[in-house]
Amino acid sequence: MSDTDVLVIGAGLAGLVAAAEAADAGRRVTVMDQEPAASIGGQAWWSFGGLFLVNSPEQRRLRIRDSVELALDDWFGSAGFDRPEDHWPREWAKAYVDFAAGEKRSWLRDQGVSLFPVVQWAERGGYQAGEHGNSVPRFHIAWGTGPAVLKPFVRRVMEHVSAGRIRLLFRHRVTRLLSVDRRVTGAAGEILVPSSVARGAKSAREVVGEFTLSAGSVIVASGGIGGNHDLVRANWPTGYGDPPSTMISGVPDSTDGLMLGVTEAAGGRVINGDRMWHYPEGVINHSPVWPSHGIRVLSGPSPLWLDATGSRLPTPLFPGFDSLGTVRHITSTGYPYSWFLTNRRTIGPEFGLSGSEQNDDLTGRSVSKLLVERFGGKITPAVQAFLDKGADFLTADTLPELVGKMNALAGNDLIDAGALERTVRLRDGQVRTGLGKDPQIVATAGARNYFGDRRMRTVEPHEILDPGSGPLVAVRLHILTRKTLGGLETDLCSAALGRDGLGRIDGLFAAGEAAGFGGGGMHGHRALEGTFLGGCLFSGRTAGRSAALLD
Ligand SMILES: Cc1cc2nc3c(=O)[nH]c(=O)nc-3n(C[C@H](O)[C@H](O)[C@H](O)COP(=O)(O)OP(=O)(O)OC[C@H]3O[C@@H](n4cnc5c(N)ncnc54)[C@H](O)[C@@H]3O)c2cc1C
Repeated sequence: MSDTDVLVIGAGLAGLVAAAEAADAGRRVTVMDQEPAASIGGQAWWSFGGLFLVNSPEQRRLRIRDSVELALDDWFGSAGFDRPEDHWPREWAKAYVDFAAGEKRSWLRDQGVSLFPVVQWAERGGYQAGEHGNSVPRFHIAWGTGPAVLKPFVRRVMEHVSAGRIRLLFRHRVTRLLSVDRRVTGAAGEILVPSSVARGAKSAREVVGEFTLSAGSVIVASGGIGGNHDLVRANWPTGYGDPPSTMISGVPDSTDGLMLGVTEAAGGRVINGDRMWHYPEGVINHSPVWPSHGIRVLSGPSPLWLDATGSRLPTPLFPGFDSLGTVRHITSTGYPYSWFLTNRRTIGPEFGLSGSEQNDDLTGRSVSKLLVERFGGKITPAVQAFLDKGADFLTADTLPELVGKMNALAGNDLIDAGALERTVRLRDGQVRTGLGKDPQIVATAGARNYFGDRRMRTVEPHEILDPGSGPLVAVRLHILTRKTLGGLETDLCSAALGRDGLGRIDGLFAAGEAAGFGGGGMHGHRALEGTFLGGCLFSGRTAGRSAALLD
């Protein structure tokens, strides 16, 4: 008899969901993670808790007309599937959109997850119908953000721990999968020195022992590669120029991607390794938790987006429109950073920060704070902290003074104050007309047609240089690593497929970011926002249920 029926590698969201489902089905489950217990839940705890749902009651209440057909068009237009190995990713995409339009909301609600009523419009795309982006708002924020999405699964796992069905082994790092005749039979690895570091912080890798564990089946839920810049650079997508010379990390160090290589060594197949989802709007965290810790600015559409030389980015690369298109443009400039140029009046309504710890009103479920700050257009304490202490945030009363500070921060003189003043004055002239032909002004006016944007995300159009709206603000933006879109190829049962082309590897499953959220890359080349947590829920659930069926 095996030491455990099901071994889950990774105690992030995907692993916890898989473990809870397998234990519900009566299996003895072991969950292993290289990090200490304090980091249970992995990235999901830090997440903003945005969930992609299609045609939800929240959307309907806001008069948003959505449908599975429209969502599928948006998904496939964004994904741009174009490879033979996109067979399972395509199938997963269809199954996932069905889940997001169907069972996902009620399944979560039954477990106690509720939603903030104002649906957000993330990743608008900005191209023609049928191309990249969400045609309608679909980003539903969990009331309580990432920790609230995680909570029911931690609770379910802990109940099984108390009942003796699940065993949690932290500081266990898998370095090898055991197999016999194309069947995975367990895992082996290192026991790491005990660690008392806080959640998300880098933990020591000193080895104090070894382990071997036999298992009826193994689920790999080890996350992506975003914390390992060497792997990100090695897999950098073709057509995106050279990888940026500097990047910051939007994920903890534990997102090291090494388990993907371990699974390949056991016969698994990683596909679409060059597909990633990084952000162009990262700022250096003034209070870092993990190495090179960056935070993503979630901006409304109004700030001017400038490259390192002070030129505006091309249409439709406005804030919140096309993350990866913007990354591609920035890397093509040869500089690893860009700038937002705006003013204090805009920052209040338009600047959000991604992450549970950056949104204490939503995370703490504080209606009063929400009403005063978000709905009142005020600068949140988290954004104010960046204005006060953030290395990338600069303010000044005049543009020449601001440009002086921008050049000093960048350590060059790439921005010409006169040229930038002309750019801003031309833009302001368009606002003054009350209509204007500038596509960003038109898009901003369009955004205000939607209640959620008008109320919470988009300032009334005004002149950037209006002294009453100042001081002026510039924010230096770095490329922030985050999600891995490719991963272990799996079929619709989350069974891992072999590199040898002979189909399933018996006893081996994969879920979450390690599986490209299902199939080895269900997002294709580009993702729609809020589909990653949901991808962990859906693929983790499938993997747990499938693994539980094996004898
Ligand atoms: C700040 C932030 C905001 C986000 N906001 C959103 C959002 O609003 N909406 C959304 O959909 N997504 C969001 N995401 C993305 C989402 O949170 C992640 O994609 C998702 O949580 C990944 O979960 P996972 O279980 O696949 O992997 P992880 O959470 O990375 O967990 C993997 C676990 O495996 C362990 N592990 C790795 N290798 C080994 C090994 N060899 N042996 C043992 N253990 C190992 C790691 O220590 C880790 O604990 C956000 C992410 C961040 C960081």
